[in-house]
Amino acid sequence: MEFIDPELLAYCEAHTSSEEEILQKITRETQAKVLMPRMLSGPLQGKFLELLVKMYRPQTILEIGTYTGYSAICLAKGLGESGKLITLDINDELEDRVRGFFEESGLNEKIDYRLGNALDLIPQIPGDFDFVFIDADKENYLTYYQLVIDRVPSGGVILADNVLWSGKVLPKGRKKLDKDTAALLDFNQFVEEDSRVENILLPLRDGIMLARKL
Ligand code: SAH
Ligand code: CA
Repeated sequence: MEFIDPELLAYCEAHTSSEEEILQKITRETQAKVLMPRMLSGPLQGKFLELLVKMYRPQTILEIGTYTGYSAICLAKGLGESGKLITLDINDELEDRVRGFFEESGLNEKIDYRLGNALDLIPQIPGDFDFVFIDADKENYLTYYQLVIDRVPSGGVILADNVLWSGKVLPKGRKKLDKDTAALLDFNQFVEEDSRVENILLPLRDGIMLARKL
């Protein structure tokens, strides 16, 4: 489901800095060769992530859910000289392709790509996360948030993608309440009530929750 008029969306894309060649290539190859290409970030979301990183200037970014590396490259592109991105994914079938894209992007040095279940990997990573992008299995969004919140310093941010879940967060947008939708409803409610953060649910694409640690 598109939330905005497709012509308005095209107009927004036409007035957004254009997508780099490597991102276009990832989109083409993902659509041609990988399962579930609708999980890809698009040009608006990608530029949004890159610009947020440029404005916040985090040292360490944690991404949960690499998929084919589109959003990882956008995040890494925003990083300064000494910044690092740690990106996690459970799907090792994509590993070779994704490592190839990172190599080609020229950002490989900044990207620490780890394969495994994020629930196990996160506690093994030492240090703070200035910027977290949650975009893996929807069922565990709240668990990921709980795993990272105490490791995000004051002023740091947590973003979570797809929090409108194609409109299924509203009763009129769904036939029945499935477990992913229920998990996202819990997540959105929890963040809204969490006094440790100030937050905005942005209706960008499929919805992005942006929470800033107080
Ligand atoms: N951030 C990517 C899209 C991620 S799609 C982009 O915007 O381009 C979601 C990804 O989460 C999938 O690749 C899936 O393999 C991964 N995932 C699902 N469950 C996971 C888990 N428990 N741990 C780590 N990754 C997981
Ligand atoms: Ca997503």
